[in-house]
Amino acid sequence: MKIILLGPPGAGKGTIAKVLTQYDGSVQISTGDILRGAVAAGTELGKQAEAAMKAGNLVTDELIMGIMEQRLQQDDCKIGYLLDGFPRTIPQARALKTLLEKLNEKLDCVLELDISRDVIIDRLTTRRTCTQCGAIYNIKSKPPKVDGICDVCGSDIVQRDDETEAVISNRLEVYNDQTAPLVDFYRQEGLLLSIQTSDSGPVLEALKSRLR
Ligand code: ADP
Ligand code: ZN
Repeated sequence: MKIILLGPPGAGKGTIAKVLTQYDGSVQISTGDILRGAVAAGTELGKQAEAAMKAGNLVTDELIMGIMEQRLQQDDCKIGYLLDGFPRTIPQARALKTLLEKLNEKLDCVLELDISRDVIIDRLTTRRTCTQCGAIYNIKSKPPKVDGICDVCGSDIVQRDDETEAVISNRLEVYNDQTAPLVDFYRQEGLLLSIQTSDSGPVLEALKSRLR
């Protein structure tokens, strides 16, 4: 499968992506994870991205396209991929279209997780992330076995810098302004599949019947 996951921060794109990779072996490509990795490693890319990310703003289209142009040409992408957090703007969507034409590839579908603002805010403020392996917890609905410690790898779990209340409302605003227009863009391309839940069971079913 070659799929784009679309939806506001906290809609559950990462979780759905993990379920889908287990289903068919496609790779999850998360621009957010790539950028956080670069910031943590202190690379040039990380330095360029850090300030925008802390504030919950987008990094530049040029930076993202540079990353994705390379990433989509790596061998593991041949099996299929789930794009998580990319594209985020109309220029990125157009650039992706050109890139895929050049690579002679076609998207199967764009899966939109259409989740309400209240649900999102509640989810994001209670979300915690492992500093080492990226595993995601929720202090209300999915706490780790030991407070503050990752079940998977034993490292510390923390609230992301961009998951405080003020930054979250900015991220939602950025989503509405810059990313929500992609819904219409992909509807016109005939690729949109919109779903009002982020429960993996129903999402997987809807996707299967769409791709059948
Ligand atoms: P979210 O949980 O909001 O979906 P991500 O983990 O996907 O967040 O991304 C975290 C941050 O990385 C974003 O707030 C933004 O600063 C940057 N980022 C990630 N993907 C993109 C992209 N495609 N275009 C611009 N900025 C991006
Ligand atoms: Zn961990």
